[in-house]
Amino acid sequence: MKATGVCPKCGSDSIARVPGHQDETSIIVDWGGYFTSAPVARYVCCACGYVESYIESPEDLKRIRRKFKLYTPQKETKTP
Ligand SMILES: [Zn+2]
Repeated sequence: MKATGVCPKCGSDSIARVPGHQDETSIIVDWGGYFTSAPVARYVCCACGYVESYIESPEDLKRIRRKFKLYTPQKETKTP
């Protein structure tokens, strides 16, 4: 949606960008100091209401990478 400007759910091109702020929606990446959370920008489809969320600052992405473990999906193990 961010890249295409088109909603992947309903195909509408009526997309609103809601900028991220240092508020309760941002992701905490550090304790203390000033910029301790990463704002989350949201893209809202004004036709169906679908929402996508993005961290937009590369620096914030680096901080999240440092603070959180990378996610590895659990592989299904087949039991005999
Ligand atoms: Zn939509």
